Amino acid sequence: MLRRCCVLCGGLLAACLLLAAAVAPATAQGFLEATRGVPLPGNGPRAYVNIIIDDLVNLDLWTQLVTDCDAFGIKTTLALNTAKTTPDDYARLAKAVAGGHEIANHTRDHVSVAPGGAVKLRYYDAKITAAHAVVDQGKGVLRIMAGDNPQPVAELDLSENGHNQTLKQLVDALNNVRGVVATLGDPYYANIQSRFLLEKDNTDIYFKNGFAPLFVNIPANARYEIEGAKHDIETGLPGFVCRSMVYPFLVSDPASRQVARELGNDCGRVGTAGNAALGAPGGYDLYQIYAVKPRDAFGTNASAPEFAAKVAAFLKKLKEVGGVCCLYSHGPDEFTNEQWRALLPLLAKDKDVAYVTLNDLSTFVRKTAQLRDGKYYLPQSGK
Ligand SMILES: [Zn+2]
Repeated sequence: MLRRCCVLCGGLLAACLLLAAAVAPATAQGFLEATRGVPLPGNGPRAYVNIIIDDLVNLDLWTQLVTDCDAFGIKTTLALNTAKTTPDDYARLAKAVAGGHEIANHTRDHVSVAPGGAVKLRYYDAKITAAHAVVDQGKGVLRIMAGDNPQPVAELDLSENGHNQTLKQLVDALNNVRGVVATLGDPYYANIQSRFLLEKDNTDIYFKNGFAPLFVNIPANARYEIEGAKHDIETGLPGFVCRSMVYPFLVSDPASRQVARELGNDCGRVGTAGNAALGAPGGYDLYQIYAVKPRDAFGTNASAPEFAAKVAAFLKKLKEVGGVCCLYSHGPDEFTNEQWRALLPLLAKDKDVAYVTLNDLSTFVRKTAQLRDGKYYLPQSGK
């Protein structure tokens, strides 16, 4: 009796261990040899891949890529930052859109929608012992307070049409204040609007060497940047509805992803930290879609046998795990039109992979998988 019980317990233990392994939380999914997943259901394509070029400055490369892709029936996407897009640019974009290609939202000013410490500053004067910064949203100013002086030593305008409209302009103005040293938290934050600095009444900035950060109101900045780009794109391309987000610098956070969702985006793309396999046991987050550069995945020597072998291995792995993801690049310094022309036939010859727009990836995921707690799961992926 005792032995039977132990056998039973042993069996139960093994079952529990198996169960624990099955429900262990997946780490950042990415796309590695070790990425797990099940194939896509049904009789359709075995994987979905979006070819996408980032940034307005790469419009020439994308326009040529569109022509080259049309020869294979491949649809592509351009991630467009809109602030400097001209009517001539929109005329070129409209032609591609009429052919079934897509324009995605890449913010108005090409700035991070989830910046960290946006401005870093300090104030030092050996004659005093304290200084602080005040971000006053009500008045739309940044005040620098020093020592016992009740009056600010400097008051900087943060308003939309003021002298310090962008964080770059604000940092330059701060560096003209005696005693202050200021810098951008990251050069990529240069074009963020100063008026989105987060309200704060006492940031200690009295440092001889160190710096104190000022933060940005992430939802307000994200809303301005994403809503502005959507408006620009839909005004420039009458009849086209922009429903795909591509986060600049591959950076997003839960708050900015929520804003992207609220503004009518069906999906969002990041980089290699994103979700590549719809069939993954940990589910698939449509607002963190994986993208890898062909340069990094296959190399740059497109005529080498290893190049074709790497493309074939990439597609094989994608088909095994239910892959739904992007190949992205920038300008010719990363991957030229000639290199794309060598890659496209290698991709197109795999008839089991669909090459579609970013939004078509999202449409496929939504109609194929089940949404639970913000992630999509295939019925057979076992969770
Ligand atoms: Zn970009």
